[in-house]
Amino acid sequence: MYQVDDKGFFGKFGGAYVPEILYKCVTELQEAYKPIIESEEFKKEYYALLKDYVGRPSPLYYAKRMSEKYGCQLYLKREDLNHTGAHKINNTIGQILMAKKMGKTRIIAETGAGQHGVATATVCALMDMKCEIFMGATDVERQHTNVERMKMLGAKVNPVRTGNMTLSDACSEAIRDWCCHPQDTFYIVGSTMGPHPYPDIVAKMQSVISEELKWQLEEKIGRDYPDYLIACVGGGSNAAGTIYHYIDDERVQIYLAEAAGHGIDTNYTAATMHCGTEGIIHGARTLVMQTEDGQIEEAFTISAGLDYPGIGPMHADLATRGRSHVLAIKDDEAIYAGYELTRMEGIIPAIESAHAVAALKKMKFKKDDVVVLTVSGRGDKDVETYLSHKEMAKEYGDF
Ligand SMILES: *Cc1c(COP(=O)(O)O)cnc(C)c1O
Repeated sequence: MYQVDDKGFFGKFGGAYVPEILYKCVTELQEAYKPIIESEEFKKEYYALLKDYVGRPSPLYYAKRMSEKYGCQLYLKREDLNHTGAHKINNTIGQILMAKKMGKTRIIAETGAGQHGVATATVCALMDMKCEIFMGATDVERQHTNVERMKMLGAKVNPVRTGNMTLSDACSEAIRDWCCHPQDTFYIVGSTMGPHPYPDIVAKMQSVISEELKWQLEEKIGRDYPDYLIACVGGGSNAAGTIYHYIDDERVQIYLAEAAGHGIDTNYTAATMHCGTEGIIHGARTLVMQTEDGQIEEAFTISAGLDYPGIGPMHADLATRGRSHVLAIKDDEAIYAGYELTRMEGIIPAIESAHAVAALKKMKFKKDDVVVLTVSGRGDKDVETYLSHKEMAKEYGDF
């Protein structure tokens, strides 16, 4: 019911709005992706790499102290324990295998915080492929360590100096590069965004998260579904993977946390599903933060990985139809939640994932409710951000 249709639409959202020159390679990809993903050869290679290279299955951990605090049975899906520190590698592994099968020799990707850039550079090193990453010049400065990691892995990092010089501009530049090299280049998109078939490809690559949840829950609680699923949303890929195998199961309630920045009533926000209107961004019809005459507005959040003025079309559809509940989490609420998980469970979450943790406070549970929350990434990259806002966590003492 909520699946993508043949033309790439989720309800009225999605599609492939691309320049004429890309029409051929987008169509080629649309025709190629399902047979590749469904082939035994692909599955064998993909699952072998997920197991031995990424370190899957990622654990499903019962968080005892947090469960007591929030009056529910809270399980954390530990995507933070994957190689390179987040869920992003599930997708880049799959897409690079697809690129190879399609005979492509050069990989490009966009990145904001640098997490997708690192995950892409990593699989390019693994597969001996040429790699160029597009990254806003502002982010190149803000996320210096990830830039160094990409370079060390052999990728060329191209700073993008148009617009606000952040993620949205990096996406535009990657699409421009793709227009110039449609023959040999494969564009590895980092989230459930972009023209069809990307939102569907990325959701399928990340769906391993809920595939594992099914048997892990069966093993732990004797039934294969939870009462609640919680995930943070930037473009929507870790959320898509978390809910994929439960979308049509109405017993499971879906709560998504988007980044409100300073608040949805201010101009400093990235809460696209609260503040956006219908429009087209990076090849898809979806909800977009834009001015009345259709200029894309800059997103604002403390979390570089959620800093996107659009949202994957699948999530625009689920939210509009009421299948998912979207909560807007402010910077200070995320910081506090990050400290809370750190001090109560000994897990420092990525600041993106901390938005999902902050959702717990805004929800009401019964004692036996089983809640699965995806910790999309680890917080090593965010330690400076957390420490420079430690006044938010005063109750944990002076440190
Ligand atoms: C990139 C990133 C996100 C946001 O991307 P989605 O596609 O919405 O999942 C969330 N968490 C972490 C740790 C990330 O690196």
